[in-house]
Amino acid sequence: MEEAHTPPCPLYRKCGGCQLQTLPYPQQLRRKQAREIALLGAFGHVEPIIGMDDPTHYRNKVCAAFALDAKRHIVSGVYQPGSHRVVPVEECLIEDAIADRIIADIRDMLRDFKIQVFDERSDRGFLRHVLVRRGFQSGEVMVVLVAASPVFPTQKPFVKKLLELHPEITTVVLNVNDRFTPVVLGEREKVLFGPGVIEDTLCGYRFRISPRSFYQVNPVQTEVLYGKAVEYAALTGTETVLDAYCGVGTIGISASAGAKQVIGVELNRDAVKDAIANARLNGLKNCWFTAGDAGEYMQRMARDGHRPDVVFMDPPRAGSDERFLQALRKTAPDRVVYVSCDPETLARDLRILTAGGAFAVRRIQPVDMFPFTEHVETVVLLSRNA
Ligand code: SAH
Repeated sequence: MEEAHTPPCPLYRKCGGCQLQTLPYPQQLRRKQAREIALLGAFGHVEPIIGMDDPTHYRNKVCAAFALDAKRHIVSGVYQPGSHRVVPVEECLIEDAIADRIIADIRDMLRDFKIQVFDERSDRGFLRHVLVRRGFQSGEVMVVLVAASPVFPTQKPFVKKLLELHPEITTVVLNVNDRFTPVVLGEREKVLFGPGVIEDTLCGYRFRISPRSFYQVNPVQTEVLYGKAVEYAALTGTETVLDAYCGVGTIGISASAGAKQVIGVELNRDAVKDAIANARLNGLKNCWFTAGDAGEYMQRMARDGHRPDVVFMDPPRAGSDERFLQALRKTAPDRVVYVSCDPETLARDLRILTAGGAFAVRRIQPVDMFPFTEHVETVVLLSRNA
């Protein structure tokens, strides 16, 4: 029996973000371990999950929705699950505390500057979301104001005041999203202050991150995760490595010192631009990045008879797809390191990779990237059966 205790956050019921709050941290880990064993145990031994020493305030990316409450007061926070009602959040157990303060101050400033929040029902107003990202090592802070329109009348004094209140902010970006979609960020952007990107250091390498690029939200555990991924790759300096679903190139770049060359493929063009800049930023001459669908790229490799020695793959929650996995079987690299943020789609994909004995699962390592939530990250090492 799991012993429940009072959730530490008063918003536990309304917000829904931290599903495991009623469990003390060691029990959260036990529960995740049991889930991993249930889903992945058939493929081999599941190593004990690596948890955090301090599991609070780990999220370095915070996104707040802005809206009016029933009394037409401005509120900011998260959407109540399954609705478009915003649950006001002042402080969050898992979010970066500085990011939360910046968001709270922006909310107060809206009143002073008479800036309206966007109202979905009337399709009127300006500010929809605020996204804050803070570099873990660098301390650089990016604020992205997501608005329904590019016209920002009090822009200059607003940004000036925000920088006075928070001199730690290194860049402010206006992102325009005038569509009705659940996606927070729109396509158009205007830099209002600073370089429009932040830099951070991870695993000893520098990374530039732009507003729309994916970057892991828990930097402490990301170093643990990538450390395991690179260890499993067991590179000797002669290998051609494919980093599939590479984002801004973090895994491939972290592994590059041990490889002959690294090729990264990623769908998001902004992330690919960041990855190319990141290779340059670190003075790396053996990393190449290309924009495109990982499955298509893998198929082309298989067709042209190119064979990577090691493949890292780190797909989104939906997992990989048939195209990628079949091409991966065909190209038959020596080792595949699968980094997954969803053990269910991971199990599905592992079944495809191990079918007929093409690959064998050698190691399974869960890492707790998202304490208090039910999510769990896993690194799996597969090797080709000779
Ligand atoms: N390895 C990176 C990014 C992982 S997140 C890191 O650790 O930071 C998954 C990435 O897959 C995202 O950057 C997303 O844009 C990308 N992606 C999603 N579908 C893709 C596809 N079909 N082909 C290539 N990349 C894809």
